[in-house]
Amino acid sequence: MRACRVPFQVLPLQIRDHKPEIDAALQAVLAHGEFILGPEVAVFERQWAEFCHVPHSVGVGSGTDALHLILRALGIGAGDEVITVANTFIATAEAISYAGARPVLVDCRSEDYLIDPAAVSAAVTPRTRAIIPVHLYGQPADMNSLSAIAQNKGLALIEDAAQAHGASLADGRVCGSLGLAAAFSFYPAKNLGAFGDGGAVTTRDESLVRQLRLLRNWGSVVKYHHEVQGFNSRLDTIQAAVLSVKLRHLAAWNDARRTAAGWYRSALAGCPGLALPVEASWTGRHAYHLFVVRLLECDRDSAARKLAARGVQTVVHYPVPIHLQKAYSELGLRPGAFPCAETAARGVLSLPMFPEITQAQVAYVADSLRAVLAS
Ligand SMILES: *Cc1c(COP(=O)(O)O)cnc(C)c1O
Repeated sequence: MRACRVPFQVLPLQIRDHKPEIDAALQAVLAHGEFILGPEVAVFERQWAEFCHVPHSVGVGSGTDALHLILRALGIGAGDEVITVANTFIATAEAISYAGARPVLVDCRSEDYLIDPAAVSAAVTPRTRAIIPVHLYGQPADMNSLSAIAQNKGLALIEDAAQAHGASLADGRVCGSLGLAAAFSFYPAKNLGAFGDGGAVTTRDESLVRQLRLLRNWGSVVKYHHEVQGFNSRLDTIQAAVLSVKLRHLAAWNDARRTAAGWYRSALAGCPGLALPVEASWTGRHAYHLFVVRLLECDRDSAARKLAARGVQTVVHYPVPIHLQKAYSELGLRPGAFPCAETAARGVLSLPMFPEITQAQVAYVADSLRAVLAS
C-alpha cells in the first residue's frame, strides 16, 4: 500500500495553527488547579449558549451523557418510548437505554439520510415521550415537520446535535436552539473537539438547567447535600479552557469545510455510479462534519480498499444500522425493517474532510474515486 496521501482527518493541524492561545489557556488552568467545575467551565457554558442562540448551556462529560441526562432530567425512563432514527451512531440509542426507556427506531429519508418525519408520526404510541432527531453528518433534520409532530402529540423534541456545531436552518435558526433541549459532543474529531471527552446541553428551559446541574454532580449543588440521585458527568475545566479557545475558530473552520464540500461537488459532478450529498430545502448552513457519498453500483468496501491503495483514507458512517447491531437484538428487528437505512449502510463512504484540507488534496481524492469507479 502507498503512503497515505490524503488522511481522513488531521487533528494536530488545529493545534499547530493555534498553539500559543491553547498553551496559555492550559497554563491558566494548571496555575489555579480547579480541575473540576473551575471558572473556565462557566465561561465556556456562557459562550456556547450564545453561539447556539439560547440562554443556557450545561457542560457534561460527553455527548452520550448529554442525551442521557436530558432524558433523566425530563423524567423519561422505564415504560416510556423514545423515537430516534436507525442510521445513527449507537450512542443515540444507548442514551435512551441508559435512561431505562425503550428506543423506537424509524427509517431515514432516502435522499439525505435524515430521520423521516412521516415514519416518526407513524411510530408514536401512547407511551411515546420524546423524539430525538439526529442532525446527521452536520445537516439539520427536518425540524419544522418534527416540531409540528412533537407539539401536536405533546412530546419532547431533543436534538442530537453531536455532528452539527454551527449548522443552521434556512430561516437562520441554529442547531442547538431548535427543540426543548439539544445534546452536543466535543469528542476530539467533532467540528468543535476537546482534548478528550466532553459534551454540553443547550436549552431555553430553566428548570431543565437546574435538573441537569444536579444530575451531572451526584444530585448536589451544595457540597455533600444531595437532592436527587445523580451521576458524575462534568465537563472538565481543562477541556472547557481548550474549547473556549477553539470556539473562536469554529465559524471559520466550518466555512473551510463548506468550501471543501464545494470543491468535492465540482470535482465529482456527473461522476457515474455516485450519489453526492444532498442539501435539504430547509438547510441554511450544513456543518459538513462529514462529506458522505454513496456508491450506487460497485461494492463499497472493495472501493474503499482501492482508494486506500491510492493513499486515500476513508471511513464508513455507519456500516451497520442500530436495528441490525448485535447489541440491539432485543428489539427483534430483521433486515428489511428499515430499507433506506440499510441501503445507506451498504453504500455510504465518508471522504476526507477537515478544515485544513487543500484543494489539491480534494482533487486527488476525486480523481482517485473516479478512477476506482471506472475500474
Ligand atoms: C459522537 C456522537 C455521539 C456521542 O458523543 P460522545 O461525546 O462521543 O459521547 C452521539 N450521537 C452522534 C450522532 C454522534 O456523532
